[in-house]
Amino acid sequence: MNHNLFATFNARMQARGTANFITTPEGDTYSYADAITATERLAGALKALGVQPGDRVAVQVDKSPEVILLYLACLRVGGVYLPLNTGYTAEEVGYFLGDAEPALFVCRPEAKDAAEAIAKETGCPKVVTLGTHKDGTLMDAVAGAEPFTGIEQRDKDDLAAILYTSGTTGRSKGAMLTHNNLASNSASLQEAWRFTEADRLIHALPIFHTHGLFVACNVILMAGASLYFMAKFDLDQIIGAMPDGTSLMGVPTFYTRLLQDERLTAELTRNMRLFTSGSAPLTAETHQKFQERTGHAILERYGMTETNMNTSNPYDGDRIAGTVGLPLPGVEIRITDPESSNHEPLPNGEIGMLEVRGPNVFKGYWRMPEKTKAELLDDGFFITGDLAVIDERGYVQIVGRDKDLVISGGFNVYPKEVEQVIDAMDGVVESAVIGLPHPDFGEGVTAVVVKEPGAPLTEAEIIDNLADHLAKFKQPKRVFFVSALPRNTMGKVQKKQLRDEYKDTYAGA
Ligand code: AMP
Repeated sequence: MNHNLFATFNARMQARGTANFITTPEGDTYSYADAITATERLAGALKALGVQPGDRVAVQVDKSPEVILLYLACLRVGGVYLPLNTGYTAEEVGYFLGDAEPALFVCRPEAKDAAEAIAKETGCPKVVTLGTHKDGTLMDAVAGAEPFTGIEQRDKDDLAAILYTSGTTGRSKGAMLTHNNLASNSASLQEAWRFTEADRLIHALPIFHTHGLFVACNVILMAGASLYFMAKFDLDQIIGAMPDGTSLMGVPTFYTRLLQDERLTAELTRNMRLFTSGSAPLTAETHQKFQERTGHAILERYGMTETNMNTSNPYDGDRIAGTVGLPLPGVEIRITDPESSNHEPLPNGEIGMLEVRGPNVFKGYWRMPEKTKAELLDDGFFITGDLAVIDERGYVQIVGRDKDLVISGGFNVYPKEVEQVIDAMDGVVESAVIGLPHPDFGEGVTAVVVKEPGAPLTEAEIIDNLADHLAKFKQPKRVFFVSALPRNTMGKVQKKQLRDEYKDTYAGA
């Protein structure tokens, strides 16, 4: 049996014939039949460019339907798809190419010269370009190549993709994802979220990340459904697409932005059956406001580059705001004591390190055996680095990243607990709690707060107000006001940036 993920997709795609696969707001469309032909032609070009099974294909291009077809063609020829964040600089790309040693680098047309220089330096043999208008030298290669209609034989554990983690500390690590990692997770998500041929997913996420690429596109391919494929998040386009859409997968900022628009109503969303959120925490307030306005309870799920998706709120049953739901079928979750050397499991209700095991969990970090050994345990559990608690109903709540934990005067302070209290105050939009070097306490709890425009809230008022709700050691010693929290494209608050910015707050305190 061929375990190539594309073989699974191909069977679905063949069965869908001329049904729509992708439509863009600009009117570009591909039926499933068109998409199969396009993957054959692109696969022919990849072969002609020298891509062999197991070779990495690095891709740093702007979002377009052809990028998805390139991903599929790469699977088809047995290549290892390696998407790169479009925001990476030439220097960062140099690191990735040097580390991954791809056989081919696909870049934007305007980046060709710089890309060729990096390729030369890092020993990457070939560079081609791909633009957003079916242009670029990759498309020229397609025109000259013989289509490849086969599907290279792959085993379950062969690599399908390498995704570099966002790397907030130290070097970015290449997460090796196998054909079975991706196949098993997309099958279980399709079932858990009830995707069928009738679905039309509004796709506004980047496709260099696990959320927009694997969660969104793989689930659609598994279901034989269709994608409304937007170059980026665009409020007008999303609102325009909702009457004909059935589902939206978003990061929390999608929902906060939608809520700021008067056009978001129950009437607008009456054809929609599912809104999902992930990649960063969705506040209970956003969840409630969205439900009040539209009647839809956003379904929050939790995953990461290394593990694909781990937990999800139920499709039927309670979607509990502030939780990421229950483990997906086949996924095991345990909460362990981070202080214990032998990963001692903690009972429900206690906060600890979230560890996960299942067919969704990656194979290891590319060329980092030590890191892999430290984080992927012999018994198959992966240490996620997320602190979490499981409630009596089995729902998982993420409390924050292990490295964001603040230790003040020897006490553990979970930023989320403090943020929740601050966020509930009148006049507060949102907050981020961080630990900063403090001469007495080791770390000083510090809050960075976004106020509602014109709210007369002061630092002293916030600190006073917290005194009734939180133990002294959890209360921020300082509160700073900002107009917006720094976020990356996936909506994650960049706490490292805040820690750097305010690092001298308690110097000499
Ligand atoms: P990435 O590898 O970029 O997908 O980032 C994964 C990390 O995002 C996880 O380890 C979590 O810290 C965070 N994350 C993903 N989904 C959620 C969620 N629903 N709630 C809170 N944090 C999340």
